[in-house]
Amino acid sequence: MQAMSWHINILTLFPEMFPGSLDQSLSGKALARGDWGYDAINIRDFGEGVHKTVDDSPYGGGAGMLMRADVVERALLSIKAPGRKIYLSPRGTPLNQSLVKELSEETALTLLCGRYEGVDQRVLDAHEFEEISIGDYVLSGGEPAALILMDACVRLLPGVMGNDDTHDNESFGSATGGLLEYPHYTRPATWESETGKAFSVPDVLTQGNHAKIDEWRRAQSEMLTKERRPDLLKK
Ligand code: SAM
Repeated sequence: MQAMSWHINILTLFPEMFPGSLDQSLSGKALARGDWGYDAINIRDFGEGVHKTVDDSPYGGGAGMLMRADVVERALLSIKAPGRKIYLSPRGTPLNQSLVKELSEETALTLLCGRYEGVDQRVLDAHEFEEISIGDYVLSGGEPAALILMDACVRLLPGVMGNDDTHDNESFGSATGGLLEYPHYTRPATWESETGKAFSVPDVLTQGNHAKIDEWRRAQSEMLTKERRPDLLKK
């Protein structure tokens, strides 16, 4: 893990969308402590002419507009230490926990948030942007995707969560063998729902036999993963 603070540059047409929810809770406290920081760079400031134009229509026709290569490049070149350059895009590498871990260990990242139909390919090629997707659906802009990527990384930074070992025991973690996490229960041992039904905690969890508890949790993880995400078992 890096000793320096984790720094994120965000290239966006909507800088006011940052830090968004990340100024709350643990990520907000970590931001205030300086464990991580960000600069939201307004691409509009690098637009063309009096109207600060940032977009143009696509060659070959088709619906929508594209963010211009020259404008995005000017915005990018204003960043002193861009680090790893990432374009949030539905056609990118799917974001998963091992990629999140890798990105949380960088010292700097630059996240390009697309709008309209996307970005002129040439600026992505010229500056060797990686493309990362947060899932197989289309958002109206890259900003929510950037916030999700940042949230997932920030919670892995040293000291952000109370116990750094927690991550390995979570879904997709190394201690769970990359599987989904088992179910959790807290007090009371029997809870009566307003539906009129009573639900009890599985006996094994109340008997203090830690070998048996580990065995039960492992079996639950395997069962849930088989039911919900058989693709993870193949990995
Ligand atoms: N025309 C693009 C396509 O079909 O792949 C979609 C453009 S989308 C309306 C506008 C921007 O939202 C994209 O440039 C990208 O930055 C962002 N975006 C949309 N879906 C995303 C996803 N699943 N993951 C990451 N970014 C996404």
